[in-house]
Amino acid sequence: MARVAVVTGGTRGIGAAISKALKDAGYKVAATYAGNDAAAEKFKSETGIPVYKWDVSSFEACADGIKKVEAELGPVDVLVNNAGITKDGAFHKMTQESWHAVVNTNLGSLFNMTKPVIDGMRSRKFGRVINISSINGQKGQFGQVNYSAAKAGDIGFTKALALENAKLGITVNVICPGYINTEMVQAVPKDVLEKSILPLIPVGRLGEPEEIARAVLFLAADDAGFVTGSTLTVNGGQYHA
Ligand code: NDP
Repeated sequence: MARVAVVTGGTRGIGAAISKALKDAGYKVAATYAGNDAAAEKFKSETGIPVYKWDVSSFEACADGIKKVEAELGPVDVLVNNAGITKDGAFHKMTQESWHAVVNTNLGSLFNMTKPVIDGMRSRKFGRVINISSINGQKGQFGQVNYSAAKAGDIGFTKALALENAKLGITVNVICPGYINTEMVQAVPKDVLEKSILPLIPVGRLGEPEEIARAVLFLAADDAGFVTGSTLTVNGGQYHA
């Protein structure tokens, strides 16, 4: 029977590539999103992948959302915690609002989304939790105290949860992408991208969303059961933690 995968933020950018790759590999996929209905509808009509709208920073919304997905597709075997946002600014100017929004969306979401699926994975003795962190959670980034803190938290979450569930057929891993060609990176001013970011990437280009999806497929596979608690960097050689 096809395994069921949920991809948060699965309708755009890296998440959309992950959703499509999982579907092509035979998974039954649910792609979630926050509010961009137009992008979600376009994604759904192009791929045939069902989309679900809820805010991953809300514990209650995640519990309700997972209930709906499981009623429609079946128990969740693979959870890809991909949804994320940035709200950049120097720390001395950073507001509490931007701190909370970024930490709750990028890190709180791992708690909110994993809670409603972990008991089922534990009782079925199979599960794959794959978290999408960032190079900037590994090395820190100017103007991203909130984002770097949240993404570093994703790595700690992964390592601890992996230990707790290692004997139950559940793996928990984290991918740290470098700079990937999505709207999030296209929002970076062109001169900053060309002068300050591209020269730091040994491969000499941005990564493509499909290159992150490739890593997710590897970690999601049934025969990847010995890979757990690991941090997989996919960054064109830019940084080695
Ligand atoms: P995009 O901005 O292109 O897409 C983000 C997706 O997440 C959208 O589907 C969006 O929904 C969804 N989302 C955002 N906030 C919420 C929320 N509160 N609840 C539910 N869904 C939400 O991002 P990317 O594809 O660039 O990034 C994906 C992940 O990869 C993020 O975690 C990001 O931090 C990480 N990453 C990205 C890098 C890059 O270079 N792009 C580098 C390193 C890490 P909607 O469409 O409704 O807005």
